[in-house]
Amino acid sequence: MTFVLDPMSIVGVPVVGLADRFPVRRIYCVGRNYAAHAREMGFDPDREPPFFFCKPNDDASVVTVADGETGRVPYPPQTRNFHYEAELVVAIGTRGRDIPVGEAVKHVFGFACGLDMTRRDLQIAAREKGRPWEVGKSFDFSAPIGPITRRADVPDIAAANISLQVDGQIRQQATIAHLIWSIDEVIANLSSLFTLEPGDLIYTGTPEGVGAVDRGQTMRVTIDGLVALSVRVD
Ligand code: MN
Repeated sequence: MTFVLDPMSIVGVPVVGLADRFPVRRIYCVGRNYAAHAREMGFDPDREPPFFFCKPNDDASVVTVADGETGRVPYPPQTRNFHYEAELVVAIGTRGRDIPVGEAVKHVFGFACGLDMTRRDLQIAAREKGRPWEVGKSFDFSAPIGPITRRADVPDIAAANISLQVDGQIRQQATIAHLIWSIDEVIANLSSLFTLEPGDLIYTGTPEGVGAVDRGQTMRVTIDGLVALSVRVD
C-alpha cells in the first residue's frame, strides 16, 4: 500500500536483553489507583471502580528512554502546572478479552518505569467542567517510558518499591502492593471494556506525592527489578 502522506511510524520501546523492540499499539492509563494519591486529589478512594483514559501512541507523545540515557521533554504549552506521575507500566504480550483475574499474568509481556506527565491545571479545569481529560493528559511528550523488562525476569513486581526523585530529592515513594486495583485486576477490568492486544501499554496509576516540575529539572523513576527512567524538562 502507498499513502498520499508519510504514514506515522510505530513507536518501539527498548526491551532489556533483546535487540528487538516492543511495538506500541494503544496506551491505557488508570486513574487514581493509590488511595493516598486519590485523597491528595480530593477523592474518597474506597473501592471506586477503576477508570481509564488513553494517551496517544505516536512518536511525538511517547518518549522512549534507553538504559543509562536521560530523555528530554520540552515544557508543554498552555500550562503553569506541569506535573510528574511516576507509574508502573504493564506491557501486554498476548491478546485477551474478558480475561479472568487468575489468568491475567499470562497476558503480560513485561514491565517498565513510566511517567504520566500531566498539565494539572488543564486537567482540573476540564474535570470541574465535566469535560474530557485529553488536554491535561494526552499531549505531546506526555508518555515517557523506560526499557521493558520481561515478566520472567521480574519475579515479584507486586512487592516492588516505586519512587520518584526530582534532582535527587525523593518526591514519591510507595510500593506496588499499595495499588487499589492490582495489576491482575486492572488487566481483567480493562479487558472487559476493550480487547487487549499485543503492544498495548497500561500505565497503572501513581502514588501520592505528585507535584510540579520546571525547565532544567530531571525526574528519575525507580521500581525494584526494572531499569530506572530519567527524564529532563527542557
Ligand atoms: Mn496517572
